[in-house]
Order: sequence, then C-alpha cells, then structure tokens
Amino acid sequence: MGIAATDGAKGMQSQFSHLLMGACMSMLLAHANAQGFDFFYFVLQWPGSYCDTSSSCCYPTTGKPASDFSIHGLWPNYNNGGYPSSCDPNNPFDISQVSDIESQLQTSWDSLSCPSSDGTSFWTHEWDKHGTCAESLFSQHAYFQSALNLRSSVNPLGGLSAAGINPDDGAYSLTAIQNALTSSLGHTPGVQCSSDASGNNQLYQLYICVATDASTLIDCPVFPTSGCSSTVLFPSF
Ligand code: AMP
Repeated sequence: MGIAATDGAKGMQSQFSHLLMGACMSMLLAHANAQGFDFFYFVLQWPGSYCDTSSSCCYPTTGKPASDFSIHGLWPNYNNGGYPSSCDPNNPFDISQVSDIESQLQTSWDSLSCPSSDGTSFWTHEWDKHGTCAESLFSQHAYFQSALNLRSSVNPLGGLSAAGINPDDGAYSLTAIQNALTSSLGHTPGVQCSSDASGNNQLYQLYICVATDASTLIDCPVFPTSGCSSTVLFPSF
C-alpha cells in the first residue's frame, strides 16, 4: 500500500515535470520566434536564365549587369515552408533610406524586368512583400545592407567554376551542381530551375538559408520546389 502510494506520487511528479518542461519549451519557442519567422532564404538569380525565357528581359538603365548571380531577395520564411508576406503597409520602401548604398544595389540587385528601370520598383516590391516581415529586426537600410553583405560573403559562381561548371550554354548534372555549391557554401542550397524559350530545363535560382541575424549561413530547414531535371543547362549571359 505504502509502496503503491509512493509510486502514484512519483507518477504524478513525473507527469508534472513533463508538463512543466512542455510549458518551458513552448515559452522558449515563442521567444525564439518573437520576430515572426524562423529563417531567411537569401535568393540569388542567374540573369541569363531570367533573360532567355519566352518573356525575355530588359537590362537596367545602368547597363548590362555582370555575368554573375544577382540578388533576388532576402525572404523571411517559416520552418514548415510557408512564409509571411506584405506585413506592414505603413512602412513602404523609401529610396532615401538606402541612398548611400544605391550604387551597390544597382550592381548586385539587378532589375531585369521590362521596361528598363533603375531598380527602384524591384527593391520596392522586395521590401514591401518580404522586408516588412523582418522590420522588427531590420530597418530598411539594415535589411538591404545585410543582403549586400551576404552577397559579398558567398561566391557560388566561383564554386561552380572550380568544379568545371560554367555559364557556357552547356548541360550539367544537377548532382554535380549541388555538390559544387555545397562545397563552396558549406551548406546545401535549394536549387531552382526554369524553362528557357525552347522549354529546356535551366539553372535559375539558388536558395541559401540564413539565420534570423541575416548573416549566419545555416542548413536549410526546408527546401523550395526545385523544378530541376537530373541534367540542366547553364546559360551564358
Ligand atoms: P517575389 O514576389 O519576391 O517572389 O518575386 C517575384 C517577382 O519578382 C515577380 O514579379 C518577378 O517577375 C519579379 N522578378 C524576379 N526577378 C526579377 C528581376 N531580376 N528583376 C525584376 N523583377 C524580378
């Protein structure tokens, strides 16, 4: 009887500590997620693949961009694959807040849509849709500066080139591309493909996963839809 009572008390104690642990974990998770998202996708785009689709492209008013991966965006994301968007209509993009880094944005965050533009409308779209969802952590200036810093800290084209993979309109194995990028970045990025004007599968975007500090590369909690075949073209630009 005495033993049974003691066992019962122990059982209750253990149930209580489980409940307590659960509550603590929830509080910790809530705290970790106070900024409203789990990580960033830093998305780089191959300009050759944006331009050789059936809808073509227009070079920015500043001229033809470099033959290198360009920034598409820095996107807050959830670990379950979803993402917040257009979080604050009261904090619209204001070019005057990034005037000191505008020339770097023009070099690294190319606008290729038509008609030709100086990039302002693309950056406006990216800030309004994605940047506002990180505004509790980053001002407009800090957000764009973080993306530029990330762009300077990675060299995916160099990593591909070291593996003999170059933008020469050749066809390359997706596995070889993924391996080269993983060696170069230290983490496996999401690789996304698109179709060129003739319907060929081609390397389009890289999704590099970054912690909520917008600077530490991490293993991707989840990968985007790839759309890549086992062999993909790497178009020249
Ligand atoms: P997002 O809504 O951030 O996923 O970005 C998709 C939008 O950005 C689409 O309207 C695309 O046409 C546009 N877009 C993607 N890349 C570029 C680029 N390099 N220049 C201009 N617009 C772009």
